[in-house]
Amino acid sequence: MDSIDDILGELPLPPYVTAEDVTFAVKAVTVHAAEQWPDGPRCRNDRAPHPCRLHRWGRRVLMERGLSQREIESLVAEQTARQP
Ligand SMILES: [Zn+2]
Repeated sequence: MDSIDDILGELPLPPYVTAEDVTFAVKAVTVHAAEQWPDGPRCRNDRAPHPCRLHRWGRRVLMERGLSQREIESLVAEQTARQP
């Protein structure tokens, strides 16, 4: 079974990661969080198997920006807390 991910491949990273990209990336990772489904974790936004393309893109952008796994988690936690 070909998933849409296999067909489209990875989203391209911006050539230079700006502060604005970081904001988008944190939002992408937060909005595209995992949700538990009977067959495993899925994206709560687009129902693709987790991590979906946008979630992966967001993490790659943040890593490209030089953030550690730990810093990424804390940014995401902050963003999650800010959501209504
Ligand atoms: Zn998603």
